[in-house]
Amino acid sequence: MDSGLIRRTFLKFFEKKGHLIVPSAPLVLKNDPTLLFTNSGMVQFKDYFLGNATPKSKRIADTQKCLRVSGKHNDLEEVGIDTYHHTMFEMLGNWSFGDYFKKDAIAWAWELLTEEYKLPKDRLYVTVFEGDTKENLPFDQDAYNFWKQHIDEDRILRGNKKDNFWEMGDQGPCGPCSEIHIDLRSEEEVKKLPGKELVNQSHPQVIEIWNNVFMEFNRKADGSLEKLPAQHVDTGMGFERLCMAIQKKTSNYDTDVFSPLLDFIGQAAGVKYKQDEKTDIAMRVMADHVRAVAFAICDGQLPSNTGAGYVIRRILRRAVRYGFTFLNFKEPFMYKLVPVLGNQMKEVFPELEAQKDYVGKVIFEEETSFLRTLEKGLKRIEVIQAELKGKVISGPMAFELYDTFGFPLDLTSLIARERGFSVDEDGFKAEMEKQKTRSKADAAKETGDWVLTGDDEKTEFIGYEHLESPVKIVKYRKIKQKNKELYQLVLDKTPFYAESGGQVGDTGYLSSNGEKISIIDTKKENELIIHFTEKLPADLGKPFQAVVDRSKRQLTMNNHSATHLLHAALRQVLGKHVEQKGSLVNDKVLRFDFSHFAAMTPEEILKVEDIVNSKIREDIHLDEKRNVPIEQAKSLGAMALFGEKYGDFVRVITFDPKFSVELCGGTHVSATGHIGLFKIVSESSVAAGVRRIEAITAEGAEAYVRAELGVLDEVRNLLKNPKDLVASIKSLSEEKHALEKKLEAINAERANQIKDELVRKASKTNGHTLILEKVSVPSADALKNIAYALRNQFDDLLMILAADVDSKPQVAVMIGEKLMQSNKFHAGNLVKELAKEIEGGGGGQPFFATAGGKNLNGLNAVIEKAKQLISQ
Ligand code: ATP
Ligand code: MG
Repeated sequence: MDSGLIRRTFLKFFEKKGHLIVPSAPLVLKNDPTLLFTNSGMVQFKDYFLGNATPKSKRIADTQKCLRVSGKHNDLEEVGIDTYHHTMFEMLGNWSFGDYFKKDAIAWAWELLTEEYKLPKDRLYVTVFEGDTKENLPFDQDAYNFWKQHIDEDRILRGNKKDNFWEMGDQGPCGPCSEIHIDLRSEEEVKKLPGKELVNQSHPQVIEIWNNVFMEFNRKADGSLEKLPAQHVDTGMGFERLCMAIQKKTSNYDTDVFSPLLDFIGQAAGVKYKQDEKTDIAMRVMADHVRAVAFAICDGQLPSNTGAGYVIRRILRRAVRYGFTFLNFKEPFMYKLVPVLGNQMKEVFPELEAQKDYVGKVIFEEETSFLRTLEKGLKRIEVIQAELKGKVISGPMAFELYDTFGFPLDLTSLIARERGFSVDEDGFKAEMEKQKTRSKADAAKETGDWVLTGDDEKTEFIGYEHLESPVKIVKYRKIKQKNKELYQLVLDKTPFYAESGGQVGDTGYLSSNGEKISIIDTKKENELIIHFTEKLPADLGKPFQAVVDRSKRQLTMNNHSATHLLHAALRQVLGKHVEQKGSLVNDKVLRFDFSHFAAMTPEEILKVEDIVNSKIREDIHLDEKRNVPIEQAKSLGAMALFGEKYGDFVRVITFDPKFSVELCGGTHVSATGHIGLFKIVSESSVAAGVRRIEAITAEGAEAYVRAELGVLDEVRNLLKNPKDLVASIKSLSEEKHALEKKLEAINAERANQIKDELVRKASKTNGHTLILEKVSVPSADALKNIAYALRNQFDDLLMILAADVDSKPQVAVMIGEKLMQSNKFHAGNLVKELAKEIEGGGGGQPFFATAGGKNLNGLNAVIEKAKQLISQ
């Protein structure tokens, strides 16, 4: 069975069992403060378990792109070293939301594996939760009994809390689980040691393939467990591991999921897979990491210096340095894997194939800059090596290489070893710990449990129509962020728009009988709308009037609607390849990132501005449609963004059906005329293939234009109101240029005179021509010219000048060619000594050196000191 068929078989099997098949959610999470990436199939259904939303079917199945590279589930360091953990992997899953439970889940898992996939029964083991006395959790007798109906009892093993109690994060839904393991070793080896001894022992061929979680609890902030309102099933099967088992391989990398990538890498590197453990690991790392990086970029996450972007950057760098170190890839290479991967995955995840040029460019650019850093790091190692006293690179030095240049310890050790050095690894680890403690303290955030104060129904959002409304507080919790205590409130209904789709959250207040509570921000946590306050009202149960800051909201709406007009105008002017890659809309500015490969020309920018402003003057009325079926919305011309999660029904915002149709949840002006004026203030690059426009509208644009005109007025005044301002500035600059030329000629003439004077004052001493004088010269250049002219005249010259250069002290020493050969004097050393008298420093060549200083009064002392030095 090839991997495509294996995947289809899974989905078809559960479809037959009454499951709705849904698409994978994006890898990168937007509205979840507890997670950066989807790390398991259940993440997109979290709200169903917690009761914040209702599933559209009680039975759902899918294949989900997962990433385990940060937070509670982090496998990054294993990846490539072992053969069954990946950064990005697919998790096949089936779910029951308050529907079937352990009995069916277990029976179906068994049926699928042994009857559809025909995995050998005598190689399968299952585990059940043994219970935990500390948490007062019982042995999972039910799961045990159900398994007994399918499998020999000696193949049912008991597992502890670590392996058999699944938790998504430190808080949230969790429950006992039952894993299925398979033994893929040879007959011979199985005879020597039964597989059950190796289950959960990190043996590469006795591995877990499927986990069936029975969600029963919610883990609260204080660590205690509370029963969920209903019981659910949440299962996850590693697709790549399943392929290995079905295709009778002993490594995920030997399946058809990875072989095209490994072949490509091997060919490019001129290396065969399975010849050398070191190059094997490097090949596996590259084949694995390109998947995580490419799909994350596809889903809208550019590599960057913070948060999720930084995680992606680190994964790519890990791959690049493995390639650099072990496969001799000194030029960007990972980007070449993108089309191979896109083609291979297009049946399930067409988003990569559709964006492969863009994704490839981003990766290429990232690789190029990292390879440059690597080179700089190698130079730094040279310096470290030169300064090194012994043969050991210290912990702090190794850490600097890691932190500043992205050199992981193993790379530093490798380079050090090649050069006969070693690295203080314990010292490095100590530095690393220090940094971890620092960043932990920075990121520390405590979240309390929700406290109910009313009926916990889903909040109704009424902010499209209303900016004020009577409301009730439904629940609240306390959070601590960067040592600041805040409260989060959930209301029964709310006019406050929660930050999303690039638009900032509303601010405003709740009031009741003279009590006023400021709402400082509004955010989403998945489906939940959360209002942030610094204090709680005295009586939480009473009715409040919720009031949104009207002016801020209106300015924000202007900018949001203008963003839509801008998007449409860009596609008209630049072409249909322009796609939104990110946006930020607040009351001051709008920022729009889009795919386009070159900087915009001034003419293009003007054209875009013109189009937007003409659409503003047309005063087009907003056409807002809610609950439009997604397919219908697309047929109207609305574009779905990659990496964005849409429901089956969407909101469509149209300003002229022939001009701008967008899927959007944001707030908009009722007619474009409100925007007043649109002005682009900058156009720049954010990443390879992504441009950024910043623009302002309405009052902001007016103020901007006024300020610019103000500057112009000031210039006009300074120039005494000329008729033609531009011509007047031009002639001013030409005049300046001519004057500079004249001055230069005068200075040269003056320098010549000074030189002649110095020649007259020259004396023959100890067999050479000595010129030791205090002079006043117009520029440092003049001083240098004088020195060289004198050198040309006397080959036995010893010139020491203490100069006043435009009121700054300088010392210059010049030694003639013949005198140089006698090695009697060294200009650099003389200058160093003399410069002390003017509180300065400097240097140069052995025959010519200069120094500047601070103390103009020291020039006489320079002459005295020079006399002493020469006579010595
Ligand atoms: P392991 O102990 O092997 O790391 P896990 O207990 O972390 O697995 P679960 O969280 O139960 O795994 O995830 C469900 C399934 O997803 C596993 O049974 C496995 O098949 C697969 N899986 C988990 N982590 C990875 C990974 N990093 N790469 C590939 N597949 C994985
Ligand atoms: Mg794991």
